Amino acid sequence: MARKPLIAGNWKMNNTVSEAVVLAQEISNGFERDWLDHVDVAVCPPYVDLKPVRTVFEFDKLRIAVGAQNVFWEPSGAYTGEISIPMLREIGCGYCIVGHSERRELFGETNEDINRKVRALVAEQLNPVRPIVCVGESLAVRDEGSYLAYVDAQVRAAFAGVDVSEVAEAVIAYEPIWAIGTGRTATPEQAQEVCAAIRATVTELFGAERAVSMRVLYGGSMNEGNASLLLAQPDIDGGLIGGASLQAKSFLSIVREAL
Ligand code: PEP
Repeated sequence: MARKPLIAGNWKMNNTVSEAVVLAQEISNGFERDWLDHVDVAVCPPYVDLKPVRTVFEFDKLRIAVGAQNVFWEPSGAYTGEISIPMLREIGCGYCIVGHSERRELFGETNEDINRKVRALVAEQLNPVRPIVCVGESLAVRDEGSYLAYVDAQVRAAFAGVDVSEVAEAVIAYEPIWAIGTGRTATPEQAQEVCAAIRATVTELFGAERAVSMRVLYGGSMNEGNASLLLAQPDIDGGLIGGASLQAKSFLSIVREAL
C-alpha cells in the first residue's frame, strides 16, 4: 500500500500572529491545489497563531492542515498555562506534535508524559487530532551505537496501552537530536535505517497492516537541497521541517520534492 507523504512545518516559537498570517498567505499563494492529491501538508505554528493561520487556508479553500506543537492530556480544569485536545479540535487542528526533543530536553517531558498525551489524542476517532510522535537519539547514544534500541524503547513507551484500532491516523517522526537545528542532516541511509526499524517496532506492536499504512517522517535539518534523497527512501514518508519551514519558498520546495 502506497503511503501518502506528509510534509509538516514546525514553526517552533516563531512568528507573532501578524507574521504568521503573512507566512501562511505566502505559502497559500505559492501552493498548487493539485499537490494535495499527492501529499498531505501541515504547518504547526504556536498556539496563538493556530486559528489565524487556519483562517487564511480556509479563506483560500486550501486543505493545508494546521497542527499544534504540544497539548495537555486532561480535557479541562485547573491546569494553568495548558491547552487541551477539545480546544485544538474546535479550531480545526488536524495534528499535534508530541514529544519533540526540545520539550523532552528543555521542559522535562518524560516518556510517561508523552504516552499520556498520545493516549488522549488517539482516544478520539471522530475529527482526530493526529499525534506526530517524535523520537530520536542524542549524539552520545548514536556514537555509543545503541540508537536502534533507544528509539525502539521510545516508540514502545509512547504507544504503551494504545490499541491497534486507535493508531490508524498516528504518525511517527524520527528526529535525531544531533540533526535538529544543527545543519547536520542524517544521511539518507542513516535516516532510512532508523525509520525501517521504527516500522518493525510498529509491526511488533500493532501488526503488519498498521505498520504498512503508518507514516514515518524524518526530521532534522531537512531542506530544499537534501529533501529529495531523504524522501526517496522506502520507509521515509515525509518530513517534519523546522528552520526550512519558516520561509515559504523553502517550505514549498520541500513540498514539491514530496510529489
Ligand atoms: C524540528 O524541530 O522538528 C526540526 C526538524 O528542526 P530543523 O529542521 O530546524 O532541524
